[in-house]
Amino acid sequence: MKFYIISRSDKLSNELMATARNYLEDFGMEWNEESPDVVLSIGGDGTLLHAFHKYSEKLADVAFVGIHTGHLGFYADWKPIEIEKLVLSIAKKEYEVIEYPLLEVSIHYQNLEEPAVYLALNESTVKSPDVTLVMDVFLNEHHFERFRGDGLCMSTPSGSTAYNKALGGAIIHPSLQAMQLTEMASINNRVFRTVGSPLVLPGHHRCALRPVKAPDFMVTIDHLQLLHKDVKSIEYRVAYEKVRFARFRAFPFWQRVHDSFIDSELSD
Ligand code: NAD
Repeated sequence: MKFYIISRSDKLSNELMATARNYLEDFGMEWNEESPDVVLSIGGDGTLLHAFHKYSEKLADVAFVGIHTGHLGFYADWKPIEIEKLVLSIAKKEYEVIEYPLLEVSIHYQNLEEPAVYLALNESTVKSPDVTLVMDVFLNEHHFERFRGDGLCMSTPSGSTAYNKALGGAIIHPSLQAMQLTEMASINNRVFRTVGSPLVLPGHHRCALRPVKAPDFMVTIDHLQLLHKDVKSIEYRVAYEKVRFARFRAFPFWQRVHDSFIDSELSD
């Protein structure tokens, strides 16, 4: 079996990386950055987002494991003291693989035939680089609303506990094939109107955002932010691809939500 480790690069994460690498190589596993079967991410959720994007072309072959060297994360849910147990389970292949849905983001440009296509593990947001964002929102090709405000966020179920939650979105269990659209400070008065509530769309639905005036947008894909010029539309759907996590013990999603947001005493 082949493995690779990504560290947040702080002292503790690097030390753990060295320890885990030694253990795994002692068990006869091969360090392989190009095509690993298992990727250990040591740091926080941000480190796992980086690991995900490094291997976003090889998702069918890779299973991710997150170890947190700071506070408990949603993806980084193993504690440093569990590293020996973890390594033993990997070496003996005593784990199951669970899959979570992803978001596919296609950005179509006015002068280009091919769209730029990205996969997001948490979410994609759209903002205007300088003025109020004005975009028409289409659901399954039907015009739904004209949005005016700071921005829009489309999140995955596992990303629903991240930026989406801060925007008042619902927490969605990652066994649901869905995506959620939330507003950032929409302008609502007698002239301008949006639905105002987060929308949860099923796996077979599509959402398109089309510019009304300025065609340039700041688009984020998880932690990555880029300015896209001359945009014709930004299209969202639940991706065909899935992200795979190696699970060595039960840590149900709602337990993680509880431990992260309600009472973390037992987890750190
Ligand atoms: P980061 O690593 O500092 O992450 C920011 C925080 O988000 C961390 O506390 C991390 O644990 C948490 N986080 C990430 N994914 C999560 C998830 N799925 N569920 C619950 N918490 C999660 O910074 P980064 O590497 O730039 O991370 C990018 C992420 O930060 C984005 O995907 C976005 O979700 C989040 N973010 C949140 C806000 C907000 O809450 N207002 C604003 C911008 C970005």
